[in-house]
Amino acid sequence: MKKKIALAGNPNVGKSTIFNALTGMHQHTGNWPGKTVSQAIGEFQYRGMEYELIDLPGTYSLISHSEEETVTRNFLCFEEYDAVIVVCDSLCLERNLNLALQILEITPNVVVCINLLDEARKKKVMINLELLEKKLGVPVVGTEARKKKGIDCLLEKLHSLESERKKPTKVRYSRKVEEKVMELEAILKKKEITDIPLRWLALRLIEKDPVLEKEITDHWKISLSEDQAISKVLETNSDIGKDIFASAIMQKSEQLTKEVVSYQNPDYEKRSRKIDKILTSKRTGIPLMLLMLMVIFWLTITGANYPSQLLFDFFSHIEGYVVNFLEFISCPSWLNSLLVGGIYKTLSWVVSVMLPPMAIFFPLFTLLEDLGVLPRIAFNLDKGFQKCCACGKQALCMMMGFGCNAVGVIGTRIIDSKRERLIAILTNNFVPCNGRFPTIIVMISMFLVAANSSGIASISQVLWLTFIILLGIGMTFLISFLLSKTLLKGLPSSFTLELPPYRKPQFFKVIVRSIFDKTLHVLFRAVVVTIPAGTLIWLLANISIGNMSILAHVNNFLDPFGKMIGVDGVILTAFLLGFPANEIVLPIMLMSYLSLGTITDYASISELKTLLIDHGWTILTAINMIILCLFHFPCSTTCLTIKKETGSIKWMLYSILIPTICGIILCLLTTFFFRLFN
Ligand code: GDP
Repeated sequence: MKKKIALAGNPNVGKSTIFNALTGMHQHTGNWPGKTVSQAIGEFQYRGMEYELIDLPGTYSLISHSEEETVTRNFLCFEEYDAVIVVCDSLCLERNLNLALQILEITPNVVVCINLLDEARKKKVMINLELLEKKLGVPVVGTEARKKKGIDCLLEKLHSLESERKKPTKVRYSRKVEEKVMELEAILKKKEITDIPLRWLALRLIEKDPVLEKEITDHWKISLSEDQAISKVLETNSDIGKDIFASAIMQKSEQLTKEVVSYQNPDYEKRSRKIDKILTSKRTGIPLMLLMLMVIFWLTITGANYPSQLLFDFFSHIEGYVVNFLEFISCPSWLNSLLVGGIYKTLSWVVSVMLPPMAIFFPLFTLLEDLGVLPRIAFNLDKGFQKCCACGKQALCMMMGFGCNAVGVIGTRIIDSKRERLIAILTNNFVPCNGRFPTIIVMISMFLVAANSSGIASISQVLWLTFIILLGIGMTFLISFLLSKTLLKGLPSSFTLELPPYRKPQFFKVIVRSIFDKTLHVLFRAVVVTIPAGTLIWLLANISIGNMSILAHVNNFLDPFGKMIGVDGVILTAFLLGFPANEIVLPIMLMSYLSLGTITDYASISELKTLLIDHGWTILTAINMIILCLFHFPCSTTCLTIKKETGSIKWMLYSILIPTICGIILCLLTTFFFRLFN
């Protein structure tokens, strides 16, 4: 029989790192609270015993306010498991023990893992683990999960947990509470509730948390609060304040921390505080953030050019061989055209345009995440979001949207209020994902900067890109504000955004993991979508009705509306057909212009530009193309994710309509002003 082990702890203490070290899996790790929003399950073996490990979302307490807290609390209270590993941050022991003590009220089968010991050592903070073990009455291990130090010891303690004599420490409450607990325990004993300590249940009944009460009733199929004997006990002296429970636990963890932690350098956080002052101050915070953004864009744009060209050359070279081979095996010409013109060319375009910027952007972004910079950016944007009656944590989901909007939408689970979460979901698409970045960059290079590859050109490219991203962020604020005044009325909830410690990023691991886990994952998705999409486009371009291909019919149909908003039918068709994945919008568009029925080669930016100008493009068309790229319906994966996360088609439809309407209005405005001044 497999043993079921739960992994619990505060956010950002290294749970996922321990999970990965034990199971050999690659759960997402990063230096900010709240990134593990769902349960991950893995397996491992130790001394012939099989274990199942469940990585629970990080939580500060078991009183449920947010989705993560509810998931973790319900698991620990109502699921069957053999033991819990409670991971603690050695530098915030007091707050971490708070959770450990709450878990010890539910089960004695606990191993407390004090992680990040290397960080504590660096800051000259000493923890007496033996004394802590004695005080808590359950096994305690010290680990440095990143370097896999102490993991063996953790395994050993877990293995011998059953045979160990555990006497978990108890938090003592006021006399009034303790008397009630005794009375209630006596009543509960007769109710045949076996899978949870009766003391815990008695405490929760006194606490009177209506959500938990309902869950308890559903789980044990008995309404304890309606029981006459129980209500009688609860009615007497019913003036016990709710915070009495939290404060007793807090006092106990404070006292424990005092006893086991010693500081050789009490000022150990001085340097972090100094950096924080610069990064989050009113005057320097936002400019520094912008500078960082620009450096990332510059590295992405300049770094991607060369490998992109290399990949194009490589694919064009191989194409000749593929064509020869297909001819050699006497492949019918229509199939040859479909395979090469439809599938191969779309694929090679997507890979060449997308892979290099992604392979640069993702690792840079992950380094910032690992360093602990992302929550500081969120902190700087917090005021803005509060003013829009939304939640500051939305900034974190927005940043995740830069990678992939579907991931950003899932990330909104860190937002507790349902209203604020919906605002974050509906506006996530306003920042461009990796599939849209390349299109924007190509448009900027062709029409908005002078056609040479000098340093100045790349700097003005970066400035344009930054401006466009800021436009997206500005729109996120505006729409969040409008939503909170109309569809999703309400006041902003107060929340505390925790600033995690600065941690040295693991350069090599970040690069390897962000390429394998993120870049290749996104690329794989793009490729999977591209094959059927490439086929469909080829069919639309090659099957004729009357004397025109279907694609041309669609283009003509959409053309009047396209012209009205300063683009054309071809561009609109490309966006519609690009619904499965944004990265194929540009190739579809070029293919329609060439009317070749196959995707064009990307010979050079200037050739592309000539092609577009020949088809009536002006700077207005390019600007509106960028606007539409930034503001249009989310891709199919994101739409499905929104439907899943909100559980309703209604919100999915809103998420399609809102950015699309914004895009159309902006295009109408630019067209109006452009025509006015020209
Ligand atoms: P979770 O939110 O609890 O799952 O935390 P993660 O596993 O994502 O870790 C948070 C951050 O702490 C990541 O940047 C990890 O690389 C880092 N980390 C985890 N364990 C250690 C450790 O023992 N030492 C150091 N220096 N960093 C660690």
